Amino acid sequence: MPPLAKGSSHASAIKVMSIRTLIWNENVHERTNPIVGELYPSGIHGAIAAGLSADKDIVVATATLDEPEDGVSAERLAATEVLIWWAHKAHDEVSDAAVERIARRVHEGMGLICLHSAHFSKIFRRLMGTPCALKWREVGEKERLWVINPTHPIAQGLAAYFELEHEEMYGEPFSVPEPAETVFVSWFKGGEVFRSGLTYQRGGGRIFYFRPGHETYPTYYDANVLRVIRNAVHWAHNPSPAWSAVAVGTNVPAEQAPEPLTSTRSDGEAGGGR
Ligand code: ZN
Repeated sequence: MPPLAKGSSHASAIKVMSIRTLIWNENVHERTNPIVGELYPSGIHGAIAAGLSADKDIVVATATLDEPEDGVSAERLAATEVLIWWAHKAHDEVSDAAVERIARRVHEGMGLICLHSAHFSKIFRRLMGTPCALKWREVGEKERLWVINPTHPIAQGLAAYFELEHEEMYGEPFSVPEPAETVFVSWFKGGEVFRSGLTYQRGGGRIFYFRPGHETYPTYYDANVLRVIRNAVHWAHNPSPAWSAVAVGTNVPAEQAPEPLTSTRSDGEAGGGR
């Protein structure tokens, strides 16, 4: 990209027309637990989709586990710029092939937002490389989410903190890699704390983990929660062309080096690297 003219910015140079966002939900609790079914008649994915629909820059689609290829075919992923993932009961029912398809797309530049119990999803653990375990308690206690990174794009439009009257508790230690940025820290009425908004980069892809969202509470109707998810979609969106060669290693012989170069290796010393 040429140097930007004075007064211009990347934001104006790259006009975002629409962010193709796929909201994926295992959609199991909604069909097996009457409380959840009544709370989310269109599914958790439907509630999030409705919440994001106010943003004209976001084009929303939804997918569920019972669809062909677990709802995440290669074609569907190729047409997705940001993927939102909610899962709890059926992590193991997502095929390893689907997980690898998603990981590949994240490495190429697709954004990924993992919500609540998706901390134990195959795709999140695959991309983190650590157990991603935590403490938990389900008594419906109050959660206070502190914005500890107020200039972060994901925190825009929020007050110093916001509260959810009833949530499941997640407590530290959370066995994830040290994040690139910590946006929120939660405090729970029972006394525990938790890093509840974390960012990561994997290849060309941006990842955001956001803690709230237990299925028996109306969390995905909360204006602050929806604001965070909406901000996160914008933050995770990478408008660059997909980094399709991200997994390809390339040998560059001396004669193709950017500067003139003569090999100092003797015959037979050539290694088997690739
Ligand atoms: Zn939960």
